[in-house]
Amino acid sequence: MVSRPTRLTPPLECVRLFDPATGLDGVIAIHSLALGPGAGGCRFWDYPHADDLLADALRLAEGMSYKNALAGLPFGGAKAVLRRPAESFDRATLFRAFGRAVDALGGNYVTAEDVGTSVADMQEVARQTRHVAGLPFREGRAGGNPSPWTARGVFEAMRVGAERVFERELSGLTVAVQGTGQVGTNLCRLLADAGARLIIADPNPLRRDRLKHILDAQLVDSTEIAAVEADIFAPCALSGALNEASVAAMKARLVCGAANNQLAVPAIADRLMARGITYIPDYVANAGGIISVAAEYLAEKPDHVAGRVDAIAPRVAALLDRAALEGRSPALVADEMAEEVIAGVGRRAA
Ligand code: NAD
Repeated sequence: MVSRPTRLTPPLECVRLFDPATGLDGVIAIHSLALGPGAGGCRFWDYPHADDLLADALRLAEGMSYKNALAGLPFGGAKAVLRRPAESFDRATLFRAFGRAVDALGGNYVTAEDVGTSVADMQEVARQTRHVAGLPFREGRAGGNPSPWTARGVFEAMRVGAERVFERELSGLTVAVQGTGQVGTNLCRLLADAGARLIIADPNPLRRDRLKHILDAQLVDSTEIAAVEADIFAPCALSGALNEASVAAMKARLVCGAANNQLAVPAIADRLMARGITYIPDYVANAGGIISVAAEYLAEKPDHVAGRVDAIAPRVAALLDRAALEGRSPALVADEMAEEVIAGVGRRAA
């Protein structure tokens, strides 16, 4: 069974943000409102070209539709992508301008942190709009930095993957973690506690050196991490970690990580399958953060979050079982499962 060449469907709405006075330059893409307001984080990154900005926003927004649907959340998919200004800029002013843009969408877009944005940035956004989550933790309420929840979900997904692929627990297995940022660091700690051996890579010394020391991890160059001798590869950096070259060189037999859009193109799922590598689809494993963000936005209690994040494990088990039974890639099966959820709501509303 061959993957669809592309999954990209047109967004419902794409808003270009451009305000030279504040340095705001970006895109908010709303992919689907079928299940509720479009929810997805705000990425702040160096984009050389405006086309890259738009392409990333569209892909990420679409991914959020699938992620939210499969996680059982009452939210559609959306994402904001902002370009980091080349010149000096005032960060608080820029994120307040972004907050005004979010507010102008009247609740159709709910934002939160993503790569390059922090709780402090979301506090600036919150001065302009209530359609934001990932704000500081408040006693008795869900919320706070979503990264530990994302790491917990990835860990749970990996645990199930290890049971299926290696028929054993994570203890004693070697995990290669690409990117030791907010999620990668939390994931490494969980893995070390579970007795896994760690190989890590991150171009930022501040992010990796202390962690290597504390967790007794082996450090390799970022260009080598996908090809090291490891049982599991955990992409926790940026998009596209799984491409023709990295899959061809990979020794790991299981891939499970936090990064969004890990497959450079959908057909890479078939390459992984052909090489006997089990891939746990990114958006199934990394839903913990959006589960926390959604609960915060809906003013729910923290124990709702734990229950929903732990439900990632049985979901991964069901997905891998169905993929094995049907002889198809888990990526394709996950997409179908998410599309069934979205279509099901459409049918109920009709
Ligand atoms: P982060 O910015 O804190 O960490 C990313 C890390 O990757 C950084 O330390 C960076 O130096 C490193 N990196 C960049 N290029 C690299 C490379 N080539 N090799 C190795 N490391 C590299 O981001 P994060 O919040 O930890 O998120 C990591 C990934 O998980 C992103 O793709 C993000 O979209 C996804 N994700 C995050 C969350 C969340 O809750 N934070 C939720 C879902 C998905």
